[in-house]
Amino acid sequence: MKPMGPLPAGFGHVGDELAIGGRPVSALVADAGMTPLFVYDGALVAARVEALRAAMPADLSIHYAMKANPLPVLVRMMAGVVDGIDVASSGELAVAEAAGARHISFAGPGKRDAELETAIAADVVINLESENELARALAIAERRGQRPRLAVRVNPDFDLKASGMRMGGGAAAFGVDAERVPALVRRIVAADASFAGFHIFAGSQNLRADLIADAQGQTVALAARLADAADVAPPLVNLGGGFGIPYFPGDAELDIAHIGEALADTLAARPDVLADSRFAIELGRWLVGPAGVYLTRVVDVKDSRGRTFVITDGGLHHQLAASGNFGTVIRRNYPLVNASRFGAPAGMVADVVGCLCTPLDRLGEQVAIAPARPGDLIALFMAGAYGATASPVAFLGHPPAAELLLSPPGTVASAS
Ligand SMILES: *Cc1c(COP(=O)(O)O)cnc(C)c1O
Repeated sequence: MKPMGPLPAGFGHVGDELAIGGRPVSALVADAGMTPLFVYDGALVAARVEALRAAMPADLSIHYAMKANPLPVLVRMMAGVVDGIDVASSGELAVAEAAGARHISFAGPGKRDAELETAIAADVVINLESENELARALAIAERRGQRPRLAVRVNPDFDLKASGMRMGGGAAAFGVDAERVPALVRRIVAADASFAGFHIFAGSQNLRADLIADAQGQTVALAARLADAADVAPPLVNLGGGFGIPYFPGDAELDIAHIGEALADTLAARPDVLADSRFAIELGRWLVGPAGVYLTRVVDVKDSRGRTFVITDGGLHHQLAASGNFGTVIRRNYPLVNASRFGAPAGMVADVVGCLCTPLDRLGEQVAIAPARPGDLIALFMAGAYGATASPVAFLGHPPAAELLLSPPGTVASAS
């Protein structure tokens, strides 16, 4: 038997069944009309936003990085509770605009001319990733007779240690190397564009509050050095995110209270050049990941040479990260349960696999679950971020999963 990650809080049961937003999983599947199904509990997402606001300094802006979960009804809900939406393509930009987002910023290392034009036309903040991109944005803005809003994404000279994904400290496709930023900012100002500030993003999926707090301190100091060198005060400093969530055995919740207290101290002591700047953090995974559950139905249960395989209608084409094939070195188990027999003792040790014809398609390896029979529903937790749209959905020609957002009062808002 192998351990699995901790079960997230906020889920209950109705009879023997797992309940999400107070509703048993069989009823949710009936609403969607199919499995596999992603269910996102909007009340849990809203509670996470509130908890984050309570922990962070009062005037800190909270942005949602929508690539974590771009489901339009979810983005619409987020637009009502956060201060900005961060997009990384013109496709995401269209969703964010339709969602009525108050503030939109657009990052991404390969923005095409047509995307820059769309962003300038929509008057959103463009996070510039290179000198070349500045030149292209200025040319497009001039042709349109518009004044573009331009921030600079900085490739910092430090990195966020112990991150799942590092995005700073060395050579990077993302952002402009810190040492070249002051000259770039001076060019923005000289061109009479609107300088919107800095965006400094150093990592992702980090569970060490002390390291995140340390990186935020370094980020504020770097923003101040760059502003001094360019002799311009940045209206906004986006400190990035990096907040992780517990997926695996031994992982613990990130201590956001610690981060908030340290950030309050950092901001209180910030250099004068940043006195009038606003600050933001941008999170994707932390806000939505724990609120999502992936439900998949058992098609077959079979034994092979002493091992039991629970074969489901889901798989890595919807939940690549849970299969261990999305940037992890050693495969470990996400939390999962037999959702149809949630109350029953874990009397079976099995490999829970998907329906794809590849041995990579494992959702749980040697996990203890309540004995599964064909027709049961398996629930895989921590599925709200980087699932449906971050998995190779076309691989092997199975249909996409359904997605359902339970809007905050617990009612079914929408399926797709
Ligand atoms: C992906 C991304 C994020 C969100 O990362 P999470 O780990 O989901 O919080 C934030 N900012 C930028 C620029 C990103 O590219």
